[in-house]
Amino acid sequence: MLFSNHQQIVLASGNKGKIKEIQAILKQQLVIPQSQFNVEEAEETGSTFVENAIIKARNAALHCNSAAIADDSGLVVDALGGAPGVISARYAGIGASDQDNLLKLLKDLEDIPAEQRTARFVCVIVLMRHANDPLPFIAQGTWEGTILDQPIGENGFGYDPVFWVPSHKKASAELSAEVKNSLSHRGIALAQLTQLLKNN
Ligand code: IMP
Repeated sequence: MLFSNHQQIVLASGNKGKIKEIQAILKQQLVIPQSQFNVEEAEETGSTFVENAIIKARNAALHCNSAAIADDSGLVVDALGGAPGVISARYAGIGASDQDNLLKLLKDLEDIPAEQRTARFVCVIVLMRHANDPLPFIAQGTWEGTILDQPIGENGFGYDPVFWVPSHKKASAELSAEVKNSLSHRGIALAQLTQLLKNN
């Protein structure tokens, strides 16, 4: 067995939605946000999602002397060579709002025709048993779409209003949370994590 029941796993995020989703998967464990241990957020110095997720999980594991879980996600746009990528949350600068980032993305893609605006959301989740775990569990999900030339819809967050979902002929921000979770990079990564844990 991977973990004993009710073993604590620190989550390297304060996001309530993520805590709920991850606790639902790690049913037998106690998922506690790192803020409860006053853990300082790690600097995301990696150039890939997986590096940053490992940095965050290791930081939480180290400071709490505990198992830890972290995710890193973002938007990868082909016409921009993969940008905004790992800097999705701060594409328009440190402290930028979702709206600033989205407007910068639309500006950068101004001259790019519809057929070249392919993109994907990416999510990597890392679970480390302890800070020196040499073989962390790594789950990954991607969600393919294209970037619109103007925002549509009110749901979700971040780049959802400009992310067109071809299978549903809607922007991600027009989907209900349920539908989004059943399709999204995060939903896929969480399902993969469940599978990995079942097999170990
Ligand atoms: P983080 O992994 O929570 O730091 O998210 C990184 C950034 O990627 C977010 O601030 C958003 O800009 C973007 N992002 C990640 N997932 C989504 C999503 O599901 N919808 C819209 N934007 C997202």
